[in-house]
Amino acid sequence: MPLDTAASAELFERARAVTPGGVNSPVRAFNAVGGTPRFIRSAAGAWLTDHDGNEYVDLICSWGPMLLGHAHPEVLAAVQAAVARGTSYGTPTEPEVELAEEIVARTSVERVRFVSSGTEATMSAIRLARGFTGRDVVVKFAGCYHGHVDALLASAGSGLATFAVPGTPGVPASSTELTLVLPYNDRAAVEKVFAEHGDRIACLITEAAPGNMGVVPPEPGFNAFLAETCARHGALFVSDEVMTGFRASRQGQWGLDGAVEGWRPDLVTFGKVMGGGFPAAAFGGRADVMGHLAPEGPVYQAGTLSGNPIATTAGLATLRLATDEVYDHVGRAAEVVKTAAAEALAAAGVPHTVQSTGTMFSVFLTEGPVRDFEDASRTSAAGYAAFFHAMLERHVYLPPSAYETWFLSSAHDDRAVSTVLDALPHAARAAAA
Ligand code: PLP
Repeated sequence: MPLDTAASAELFERARAVTPGGVNSPVRAFNAVGGTPRFIRSAAGAWLTDHDGNEYVDLICSWGPMLLGHAHPEVLAAVQAAVARGTSYGTPTEPEVELAEEIVARTSVERVRFVSSGTEATMSAIRLARGFTGRDVVVKFAGCYHGHVDALLASAGSGLATFAVPGTPGVPASSTELTLVLPYNDRAAVEKVFAEHGDRIACLITEAAPGNMGVVPPEPGFNAFLAETCARHGALFVSDEVMTGFRASRQGQWGLDGAVEGWRPDLVTFGKVMGGGFPAAAFGGRADVMGHLAPEGPVYQAGTLSGNPIATTAGLATLRLATDEVYDHVGRAAEVVKTAAAEALAAAGVPHTVQSTGTMFSVFLTEGPVRDFEDASRTSAAGYAAFFHAMLERHVYLPPSAYETWFLSSAHDDRAVSTVLDALPHAARAAAA
């Protein structure tokens, strides 16, 4: 018996009348997999409940932020106490200082500035890099998503076009003509553009470990190579840890490479987990670079709700609760799920590869290894759509797109994990059909 989804379908109809596509961020729609998105009424721990009363194990976790699961009692208590003191003052507050101190203590950055979304963080980091270096060109990798910043919604130009072209209508060519787009994990391509344009490059921005084309880990030493190449050419290395920060490990992706190998990015962007489910994000880095930011320096950047007391309180409570035990638990649960997914797909004869970095992983329906966006694009969209719906029918909410990371939390206990494990063989057979 298929799940009853009448209430979600009715809400979707109403939503489509008043909101483009019925959603406030495209990937929430089921365009890539077909069907009607479930409208979620509430969430607790590892579980989502929709408006028809169906329950799902959540493998999206709000696209990363909910490291501790939903409605964690201590985060809720901190937020409730903060709300009672008023919701926004437009003045400096103590939670901002405490959250900044926590981020500085855990990561490579020396100073940090808060914003409200990952998009704002990367946009501001790029402006700061340009203002600091006095240069204009930005290098990025195909398949890395840094939010909907005009200059970064860019695709590699075809043929002889070195500089990028707009990745969407609405972005003028003038916004991407200073952006260079390279294949990920390709050292030779990086060497080449720095040899040709090094003295014009303000910064190279990369996801610290890409998670937006599925998880495509940097090959060993790749981030160190990028940092070193940027330094050699006087460009800044911007590591986007919006997804990986406080998620891939306690110290983000940097905890898995830079902290071990002994190098630091010049600038880092954060979001997701550090907001504890509220709109908070940040960019930070070298003290001298951050000192170029207004009001200390000349590079302008601002925000009415930046460092909002409720958001920073939620983020602070989340990070303080995100202990080594939390990462151990999420890592173990991820290991169990990804092993079972690989076994189920192998048993059903579906070509696949499972890739991970720290506690983050994703499942590609193509032979691996997946090293870059071109490899990732070979994943079977039709196979994933069948897989996704078979999981959903069995109460597991996967990301409704084949190119996404699967997220777990410290609230994913044996009951939640075994619900996933029971569903996987059915989904693998559906993908094979
Ligand atoms: N950077 C990365 C690596 C992301 O994964 C995202 C969002 O998924 C962003 C930036 C943009 O963040 P936001 O959606 O908060 O604007």
